[in-house]
Amino acid sequence: MEELRSAVRAVCDRFPDAYWRDLDARRAYPEAFVAAMTEAGFLGALIPAEYGGMGLDIAQTSVILEEINASGGNAQPAHAQVYTMGTLLRHGSEAQKREYLPKIASGELRLQAFGVTEPEAGTDTTSLRTTATRRGDRYVVNGRKMYISRVQHSDAMVLLARTGEAKPRKSDGLSVFLVDLHAAIGHGLTVNPRRVMINNVTNELVFTNLEIPAGALVGEEGKGFRYILDGMNAERILIAAECIGNGRWFVARASRRANEREVFGRPIGANQGIQFPLARAHVGVEAADLMRFEAARRFDAGEPCGAQANMALLLAADAAWEAANAAMQTFGGYSFDSEYDIERKFRETRLFQVAPISTNLILAYVGQHVLGLPRSF
Ligand SMILES: Cc1cc2nc3c(=O)[nH]c(=O)nc-3n(C[C@H](O)[C@H](O)[C@H](O)COP(=O)(O)OP(=O)(O)OC[C@H]3O[C@@H](n4cnc5c(N)ncnc54)[C@H](O)[C@@H]3O)c2cc1C
Repeated sequence: MEELRSAVRAVCDRFPDAYWRDLDARRAYPEAFVAAMTEAGFLGALIPAEYGGMGLDIAQTSVILEEINASGGNAQPAHAQVYTMGTLLRHGSEAQKREYLPKIASGELRLQAFGVTEPEAGTDTTSLRTTATRRGDRYVVNGRKMYISRVQHSDAMVLLARTGEAKPRKSDGLSVFLVDLHAAIGHGLTVNPRRVMINNVTNELVFTNLEIPAGALVGEEGKGFRYILDGMNAERILIAAECIGNGRWFVARASRRANEREVFGRPIGANQGIQFPLARAHVGVEAADLMRFEAARRFDAGEPCGAQANMALLLAADAAWEAANAAMQTFGGYSFDSEYDIERKFRETRLFQVAPISTNLILAYVGQHVLGLPRSF
């Protein structure tokens, strides 16, 4: 694992703070970083070797994403290329896998867009209204999606749409498609960018009689929600690792600042008001890290890991946020100055309380599935 960490760090070292700061100011995509990570093979981490990938497990892959964030970067574009292909890998036909996975592993094809959320269906995914209606050898898609990221930087998108009724179960009637974005944009798909608090190109999508070939369906019609759920534990573990990377970055930066910055003739870190929040943040990050590796161990051993994956993400998102706040206090006024990078990482870290899954929903999972408490929705 140490070898893998060093190899990822070697790539990240080529992309210092100034690189990410400049992209953030311009809301630009990290093209050069993604190209370097692709060339090193890291974005094909989870793709089995027979399809041209590295064939790493979740524990190892999580370390790649952690190191990106710990270096001061933002793993989101990398994460998307690493992970979005999971639905295809688990549920796609052999022909689809042979066609797409080697190209995703080599970077020839970017599959970084994942279209689930809708204006009327965010947390409550099974109420989504975008429809895909079968007409001969095609499906016709109508509806709207909200906050769908990286569409402008992807060749293809995984789309969840309604193909049938939500009966007998609420989760029935949804299907997954692999949409060719070049064919779709301007021919039934309109992309309306939404500027958000962080450097993540995200969009509203409007589908108006978009025609996609029937062969774009992944797996069986009507089982799409279960396919998406299947990928959730892996996603939780990977996002937890990104939070841990952020937490480590904040603690390291703030500790350095607390040693160097002198006020009243001594380092500010000598004050318990500065030192203890950093120590507490470090403890939180380390505890979350243990849960991350326990969840990953279970996942990689094929054991049930829903509870651990959810708890790892909650602990990690909270620890990173606590570390972010401690770093803001340590840097004082400088924390607001973009040249110090704290405010950029602070904004990026806040996302994980809300997306891709809100911490409220993690608590609901633990309450209901781990403690046996009544359902709240
Ligand atoms: C920067 C960014 C990028 C994104 N990228 C993507 C993407 O690429 N693809 C995609 O599909 N989506 C994406 N999303 C959407 C994201 O997944 C949703 O915003 C998120 O799932 C929450 O949905 P919502 O915003 O509709 O919140 P809502 O569903 O409106 O919920 C609002 C709040 O109420 C809480 N709440 C709702 N019901 C309950 C309950 N029963 N108990 C307790 N609390 C509850 C929620 O937890 C949340 O905090 C992105 C979002 C952002 C901000």
